[in-house]
Amino acid sequence: MAKKKKGPRQIVGLQCIKCKQFGYVTEFNKVNEQLKKQTSNEGTFPISKYCKRCKKHTEHKAMKKLK
Ligand SMILES: [Zn+2]
Repeated sequence: MAKKKKGPRQIVGLQCIKCKQFGYVTEFNKVNEQLKKQTSNEGTFPISKYCKRCKKHTEHKAMKKLK
């Protein structure tokens, strides 16, 4: 049995656009991302996340992919 690959997932860091704090690391599926852009003209990012430093929900953007 060959190993199953889980598709073109990418790990990215999420950074708060207000205080530049790195709060999250997430992974998303590139294919899903492209589909979203095609269907709704909006990507996943920026995404609203709770920022520990701002102590509220802020917009987070995806930074370069991490390893
Ligand atoms: Zn913040």
